[in-house]
This record gives sequence, structure tokens and C-alpha cells, in this order.
Amino acid sequence: TADLFTFDEFLRFWGSDRPQATALDGPDRTLTYGELAATTEQVISGLIDLGIGKGDRIAWFGKNSTLYFTLFFAAARLGAVMVPIGWRLAPAEATWIASDAQAKAVFLGQGFEGLAPTFADLPTVRMALTQDEAWRWIDAQQPAAFEPAGPEDAVLQLYTSGTTGNPKGAVLSNRNLFGLRKQSIGSDQPYTTMTDDEAILVAMPCAHIGGTGLGVMAIGAGLPGIILAEFEPRAVFDAVEQKGVTRFFIVPAALQMLLNHPDCASVDFARVKYIIYGASPIPLVLLRECIAMFKAEFIQAYGMTETTGTICMLPPEDHCVEGNQRMRSAGKPLPGVEVRVVGENGEALGPNEIGEIQTRSSNNMLGYWNLPEATAKTMTPDGWIATGDAGYLDEDGYVYMHDRIKDMIISGGENVYPAQVESAIYGHPDVQEVAVIGVPDATWGEAVKAVCVPKPGHVIDPQSIIDWTRERLAGFKVPKSVDVIEALPRNPSGKILRRTLREPYWAGLERQVN
Ligand code: ATP
Ligand code: MG
Repeated sequence: TADLFTFDEFLRFWGSDRPQATALDGPDRTLTYGELAATTEQVISGLIDLGIGKGDRIAWFGKNSTLYFTLFFAAARLGAVMVPIGWRLAPAEATWIASDAQAKAVFLGQGFEGLAPTFADLPTVRMALTQDEAWRWIDAQQPAAFEPAGPEDAVLQLYTSGTTGNPKGAVLSNRNLFGLRKQSIGSDQPYTTMTDDEAILVAMPCAHIGGTGLGVMAIGAGLPGIILAEFEPRAVFDAVEQKGVTRFFIVPAALQMLLNHPDCASVDFARVKYIIYGASPIPLVLLRECIAMFKAEFIQAYGMTETTGTICMLPPEDHCVEGNQRMRSAGKPLPGVEVRVVGENGEALGPNEIGEIQTRSSNNMLGYWNLPEATAKTMTPDGWIATGDAGYLDEDGYVYMHDRIKDMIISGGENVYPAQVESAIYGHPDVQEVAVIGVPDATWGEAVKAVCVPKPGHVIDPQSIIDWTRERLAGFKVPKSVDVIEALPRNPSGKILRRTLREPYWAGLERQVN
């Protein structure tokens, strides 16, 4: 399968190679590869009847389901573009995305049926169906002939998480989704060397590359994709114990929820080979607890929506050595991925010099939907993507992610990376969670502030946080003030929203961002 590049090729191949094998096992239906090949052809016929073809957008608003992946794969075979919308968004935000994408059809998952009329009212929408209606619509179709999409055609439009600003629609092609896999085959990367007895769990929302991407991984390897409607610890444990799941991806906040669950210690993880985590920084304490708790190997993934997910991976062997500095790394580039670090004027920096991380590979998106200026700012003409992340490469080519450039604090002319201060504070016995932000300061320009959430039953003494940090970090990195709150604001992918924490302090002021 190393020479297959498109959904059409993969579905036809597995449909005849292993028609009886499970392809999608979700909360609504289970489909074999034979059924998936045929069902996607029925969807295509329905789409063609609606006048939907190459380049047209269709949207999904709902939790994960077999229906979602079936619609996505069908659209992708045809070259229509699936736009999954995060189900935690408010109706107004969700309809904004459907309008922005000029969706011609909208499908609603279980529990979101009530919004069908609202979506149907959008000027571009020709049909809005609930999950049950959609399955009936599909079952009534006869497969039709169609011209399949090619490797460079757009097939998926994923909105970024909106951590640093408004979400942007990253447009991804067949090659973006499968190109890297081809380059990695035979490279002994645990990411791609999957055996035929594996099953892949889709546990994160399909509007995130860590959700949809795992479904794509399953189809690329001809393996079962076990689909959870949404992340829930007990559902993960059940999938692991009953569905033979061998690898899954979850975000650090979800790992913490697994650990906190009372059943955690008694779950049989014997079949799980790899737990992949990423999308936001992981506190080392949490990572160590996970390694001690789960009998599985850990892989860190670093990437972004614009790079179709993973570009760097910290392999299991870099997780095990005690006192290993590499555990703080986001890993090394996958085969076929270039990573460089550049300074403020675009100059290439050497090992251990901090700058912006940039990357180039067949994973890089085609561009942002309808945002030519943002696209031009993010993608250089020679194919590099500016990640907006500050970090460095070490002598061995490992990437160390420092922080979002937009979150960097400039205090008295010194650069302070919030993540570094946070990781020092994470060891404090009373602290459950912490976020570090820059607040306006007449003397220093910006001053470091720590916003802490206490562990249950603990009380945080602000001075003790300051003293604790002073023992561990340079003076200019020590918080000048500490706030204690009950919970940190997060977006649906579990990322801490430092901009929301900053907002009240900067009201009416302009914050300088590099
Ligand atoms: P927006 O671009 O809308 O502000 P976002 O950048 O959070 O949102 P995503 O594309 O989901 O949207 O996330 C990509 C970002 O997540 C990366 O640029 C990086 O900052 C962060 N990230 C991804 N993987 C890791 C990781 N392993 N460790 C730390 N941070 C990570
Ligand atoms: Mg981003």
C-alpha cells in the first residue's frame, strides 16, 4: 500500500483485500471494509444528485460517529471537502463556520438534531440532515460512477483550535493526509509500523486532527477504527478491554482524567502498545505518573492543524531513562519532515538557539480557507510553515518547544517563556494547575503573573509560590504576583487559554507581540 495516495485508492484496495474485516466500529454502526467501500459509493451518488462535487464543502456538527467518518471518506473519494465543526461550539459559532466554509450540505450528529432547521436556512445549504435521516438517505442510494479526487485535491477543512485567536480553516489534501505515511513506511517508526492485529481508538473530537487523523490512520493501515462519541475515561477503558485497542491519541488533560478515574488501576492495558499524547505541553509530573501507571509505551506528538498533525515524535525509548533531559523534548522530525529554527529576521539559528520553529513536508496544508493574508504570513513561498511556536533544536536534532510566541512575556527586556515558569511551579505541593501570563507593568513593560488552581483540599499561599519559584529560576522569571482561581479556562481540545486570562489585565491597552 506504499504507493496509495488517496482515499479512493485506499477504500477500493481494502474493500477487496479484506472485505470482512472491521473498518469502523462506532456508537451508531459498525462497517466492514467491504461495506465501507460500498457505503461511501452510495454517499457519493447522493452528493452528486445534490450537485455537490470537487471543491464543494459539506459540514458535520456533532460528536464522533461511524456516520461522520463514512461521510468524510465518501466526500474525500469524490474531492468534496469535509468540514467537521467542534460540537462544544455554541450554535452561533457552529453556523458561522458552516457559512464561512459555504457548506452545501450539513449533517448533524446525535443530540444536535434541533439545529437542522437553523443550518438549512443558511443561503448555501441545500440539505441539512440528522444522523438517522442521513443513514436513511444513504441506504436509499444506488452507487454511481464518479471521477475520483487526485492526490493534490483538498479533502478536509479543519479549523485550528483558536488558542491564540480566531480559528482558521486549514485546507488539507489527500497527499497531506497520506504522504507522510508513505515516507515513513519501512523506517521502523512506531508511528507507522502497524501490524494486522492492531485496532486504533478515535477518542478525541473529530473536529481536531487528533480525532479525524486517527480515523485516517486506521484506514491507511486497513485496521479497525474504534470510535468513541466523545472522550470519557470509562469508555476508553471499555474500548481497551473489549475492542482490542492497541494504540490511541489523547491530549494531556485527558491523560490526567484517566489517571483520576477510580477504575484506572484495575484496567487491563496488556494489548495497548502505544499511547500517543500531545497538542499541548505535558507537565513532567503527569508524564511520570502515566508511565508508572499504564503498561504501554508512550509517544509524544508535536504538530499543528496546519501540518496535518504530527511532525515530530518523541519515541518510547526517550521516555524511559531516569533524569533524561529528552523527556522535556517534543521529539525529532518524522522521516520526510524538515524542521528549522529562525531568528527575528528570518535568519537560520544554530543548535540550542531559541527562535521560531518552522517546518516543511508533504504534511503542510494547502492554505487557510479564504484567508490569503494569514496564509501568506504562515507559509513561505518555498514551502515552510511558521508554527508560531518558540523553541530550539539540540545537537541531536530534537525539538524543544518553549512556548507560543504570542504568549512569550517580555519583562525588563528579558524573554520569559511561560511554560518554563509553569513547569517549575507544577512541582509545588499545593498546586493542581497553573498558567503564567504577562500583565502590564509600568516599570518592566510586562510583569510575570502566575494563575494557580489549588489541589483539592489545599490552600495556596501566593508568597510560597513566589519563594518556590525563586529557588528554582532566575529572578526575572519569578512571578511578581499570584492569582488563585478554581479552574483554568480551556478550549475544547483542553488547551489552556492564556489570552482569556490576560484579557482583563489588558483591557484598553495594546499588548506588543513579536
Ligand atoms: P490557533 O492556531 O487557532 O491559535 P492552536 O494553535 O492551539 O490554535 P492547533 O493546530 O490545534 O491549534 O494546535 C497546534 C499547536 O499546539 C502548536 O502550534 C503548539 O503550540 C501546540 N502543541 C502541539 N503539540 C504539542 C506538544 N507535543 N507539546 C506542546 N505543545 C504542542
Ligand atoms: Mg496554531
